[in-house]
Amino acid sequence: DMAHSKGETQVYLVGAGPGDPGLLTLKGRAAIERADVLVYDRLVSPRLLGYARPDCELVYVGKTPDHHTLPQHKINALLVKKALAGNVVVRLKGGDPFVFGRGGEEAEELRAHGLSYEVVPGVTSAIAAPAYTGIPVTHRDAASSFTVITGHERDGKGVSAIPWGQVARLKGTLVFLMGMENLPRIVDNLVGHGMDPATPAAVVRYGTWPMQRTVCAPLAALEERVGEEGIENPAVIVVGQVAALRERLSWAERKPLFGKTVVVTRARHQASALASALEERGAQVLEFPAIEIAPPADPQPLAEAVAGIEAYRWVVLTSANGVDAFFAEAAAQRLDARCLAGAEVAAIGTGTQAALAAYGITQVHVAREFCAEGLAGLLAGKVRAGDRVLIARAEEARDVLPRALEEQGAQVSDVAAYRTRAVAEGAEALAAALRAGDVDAVTFTSSSTVTNLLACLGGPSLLEGADLYSIGPVTTETLRAAGLEPRAQAVEYTIAGLVAALVDTQEGELL
Ligand code: SAH
Repeated sequence: DMAHSKGETQVYLVGAGPGDPGLLTLKGRAAIERADVLVYDRLVSPRLLGYARPDCELVYVGKTPDHHTLPQHKINALLVKKALAGNVVVRLKGGDPFVFGRGGEEAEELRAHGLSYEVVPGVTSAIAAPAYTGIPVTHRDAASSFTVITGHERDGKGVSAIPWGQVARLKGTLVFLMGMENLPRIVDNLVGHGMDPATPAAVVRYGTWPMQRTVCAPLAALEERVGEEGIENPAVIVVGQVAALRERLSWAERKPLFGKTVVVTRARHQASALASALEERGAQVLEFPAIEIAPPADPQPLAEAVAGIEAYRWVVLTSANGVDAFFAEAAAQRLDARCLAGAEVAAIGTGTQAALAAYGITQVHVAREFCAEGLAGLLAGKVRAGDRVLIARAEEARDVLPRALEEQGAQVSDVAAYRTRAVAEGAEALAAALRAGDVDAVTFTSSSTVTNLLACLGGPSLLEGADLYSIGPVTTETLRAAGLEPRAQAVEYTIAGLVAALVDTQEGELL
């Protein structure tokens, strides 16, 4: 095992925030990036685990499907053991580590073993869950304090250890965590000690997560409404005049794709732009990497084309993947962007243009229409008879572009720079979600995402219940060939266009 370097913190008690991965602090992220061992709970977004190094040991200590949790003394012992072995340990906890997180007990145990630690506070659900539903816990006109209270019955005390007489008389906001099982008793205690049964109240489940749900009702009616809506843990209970502000101030739940589950099918490293655009609009995204980028079956033609690159007057790249593959091959031959100095470069789409810019290639002929026909049209007046043209693109690409250029008298070398292949990983989970009717929409960003998803799902039948979205005419054709009709096709054949198509057709359908 590795040893700590002198003076280095041994254990970080880090608040992960309430769920939305964007609510982790910068300091929390830096600690995760540094971790040799990451010990985490159930209410921590899986996205945050992605900040850990690939060789970091991940230890889950949250509730298992059969409702068992690792007892606290065992978690304490684990932290101590891993830290004493010389690892940098991060204990990642939902919300804030010192708000009902038992972080205090863990710190005591670390101190008792002479281990150094840091506490990285987190955004607590006590504040964030109300905030995301549009309830400010304080307000100049409605509440000048807020009190965070456990609703959990512990060893027969817990709730009953709360001074209800005083709590019921507080003028400020009350926030109960871990209170769902005791909701009837909480309400009885408050009303029994004199609180107005008409006091506004709310329950927010999975606050800040895409599956956030809220129920608002006067205190006396809260339990019934919660039962009707089937709201369970994890949820916060908010009691006080501020709860009435939600009607005017709700925002997360007003996002156009709020409550929608959308499948994103792209190669894993490409999915994030589409996924984050959809999440930004409130959707819950299921990323399904139906395709993966791989080297072409025969890498020789690309290698030869790059070696003889001076001979080409035109170099045509049709996707960001093609750009990356081209420059990876160039780098392997110890060439850089200067190898294109003598050539005209043409590209399809702004994504390809951006990828070229990342390699320093900015003088590019870019097709405004995002398909091969568009590029063929653009080059029609520019490519002269006898020009040598290199097209580096996906192995499975169509013949439209080379044929059009050949018709103009060009000498075309059409080489495979990469190939996309189907990935089965995650197919079963996606099939289950589709079968259960949990998927509202499926996005397709290319023909190969259609073909490969269908291959993974064993045919089109599971997709019949979801709304399908196509990025452009070629993708739409592939869907139709499989007997599937898209709900909409992007007006502009880009990621932004695809997102717009979803917003236009899905907006407000749920509420
Ligand atoms: N340390 C955490 C609280 C841990 S206790 C924090 O600061 O947020 C666990 C309780 O927190 C749950 O029973 C629930 O009441 C609340 N909770 C945690 N995350 C939540 C969320 N995203 N939405 C609503 N309640 C949440």
